[in-house]
Amino acid sequence: MPTRTNWQLGRDIEYPYDAPPPQKQVAYIFDINKCIECQTCTIACKTCWTSAKGEETIFWNNVETKPYGGYPTTWDLKLLEQREPAQWQNGVLKTKTIFEDHGPLDSPTGHHPTPDDYSALNLGEDDITGTVEQGGHFSGVHPMWMFYLARICNHCDNPACVAACPRKAVYKRDEDGIVLIDQERCRGYQECVKACPYKKTFFNMISRTSEKCIGCYPRVEQGEVALCVESCIGKIRLHGFLSTQGEPQADNPLDYIVKIRQLALPLYPQFGTGPNVYYIPPVHVPDGFLGQLFGPNVEKAKAMYSTLKNDKELLGALLLFGATTRIVTKFKVNENEVIGWDVKGEEVARVPFTEHTYIRDHYDKRFDVYRHNTT
Ligand code: SF4
Ligand code: SF4
Ligand code: SF4
Repeated sequence: MPTRTNWQLGRDIEYPYDAPPPQKQVAYIFDINKCIECQTCTIACKTCWTSAKGEETIFWNNVETKPYGGYPTTWDLKLLEQREPAQWQNGVLKTKTIFEDHGPLDSPTGHHPTPDDYSALNLGEDDITGTVEQGGHFSGVHPMWMFYLARICNHCDNPACVAACPRKAVYKRDEDGIVLIDQERCRGYQECVKACPYKKTFFNMISRTSEKCIGCYPRVEQGEVALCVESCIGKIRLHGFLSTQGEPQADNPLDYIVKIRQLALPLYPQFGTGPNVYYIPPVHVPDGFLGQLFGPNVEKAKAMYSTLKNDKELLGALLLFGATTRIVTKFKVNENEVIGWDVKGEEVARVPFTEHTYIRDHYDKRFDVYRHNTT
């Protein structure tokens, strides 16, 4: 089997296809600390892309509560139970990836959810890790915790869905790394559904083909961010591209946050697919749990996030989240603000570190009305 470098694992991995990296790689950063699970992203994607027959229980974007939630139900636990826990040494994965568990001709390790697993999108919603004792109180650290995990297709570097498809109906675009399923070629064998460790390919029982998040490619081709990104109420999302040719660029916000500063981390990197949704880990959750989810850099990322106010360059990059509907490819931090430019070199975002505040008069003489906060 050919090998390829997996920078997230610090080593080469075995992967069935030997394709060169795309010209640039679509990527997303989600700041878990800011997600309020309003599901606006879920509905934005659903109403635009998956409202046809057979798509009733299909959600390309979903937001689940960890540790107990998951859509489809127990999508990750079922795979984790089949495999040994990830072990790392000096940033290098010592355990196997899903491509290395079996022989070179075998499919990646996976499982096939049942139709019922797709029927309870919000199972486990808001459940915390234990019961709160009567009389218990908050003393600076939450003894019980939960957090919201927003999930879309990761448009992986080494997609398991591509590796598993016997029809070669799943492919990764050279221009931006978006992973798509050719509906004409697909015969509904569902090998991609079984292989995707994130369960982000879905079988449509009416069309009898598999489908997945299309990365909002018609918008991306116009320089616009994805719908689930634009609609995000909490402004937790940044959508852009990682450099794949040469070194990471310090003025590319995605390269800077993900590769240079390593504040945002891939989900279950030990699976080996090289996922491209990167998460800023929740600071209130224990490192042990987060380590299995996001790999060995959790502690460092949490410490960095907690001291952001002294880190102007990084704080400036984070201010770009939700600041514009255009894809920002370059940014610069000044004394008082951050500026973002799109691929054409047009300024598309300018965000001050401190927002201006306007205090209006309690009484508005012009209209003879009182201006309370809620009017
Ligand atoms: S819209 Fe944003 S804040 Fe709301 S659930 Fe989705 S990711 Fe979280
Ligand atoms: S997340 Fe799943 S569906 Fe998306 S590219 Fe990776 S393996 Fe394929
Ligand atoms: S990128 Fe587009 S298609 Fe994919 S989950 Fe977000 S809104 Fe849906």
